[in-house]
Amino acid sequence: MKTAAQLTESFRAQGLRVTPQRQCIFRLLQGNDSHPTVDSLYDSARAEMPTISLKTVYQTVHDLAALDEVELLDLGTGSLRVDPNVEEEHHHLVCTNCGLVRDLPLDVSSVRLSAKARRGFDVRAVEVIARGLCATCVAEGV
Ligand SMILES: [Zn+2]
Ligand SMILES: [Zn+2]
Repeated sequence: MKTAAQLTESFRAQGLRVTPQRQCIFRLLQGNDSHPTVDSLYDSARAEMPTISLKTVYQTVHDLAALDEVELLDLGTGSLRVDPNVEEEHHHLVCTNCGLVRDLPLDVSSVRLSAKARRGFDVRAVEVIARGLCATCVAEGV
């Protein structure tokens, strides 16, 4: 993901409005590897900017996704997760107890799907989701 200043430029170049509320979201996503939900981003943003609305957070996140600056992931945790790490190809570890999502560096370029298995399907991407318990949940004896 670009820096908040670069994102401001990109948004303006696309004719999108850049407000202090939107810049607050840019900052909150910068280097954020927690894969926050829109709701948790909203909570963090409200702590800094009490007047920000959930709608603004949604709109900003969707605009960022349209510019390929974030990826919106449905990892089966109940809500969309915002992933600003669009530079490094990666997969995900998902905690089935607390919903923690962590990046999983993994090379799947060697995965070959046989024609028989694909049954005519034109495969464009392979995503790996490793599910289990995070270190915290393991330590708590879940
Ligand atoms: Zn956990
Ligand atoms: Zn990720």
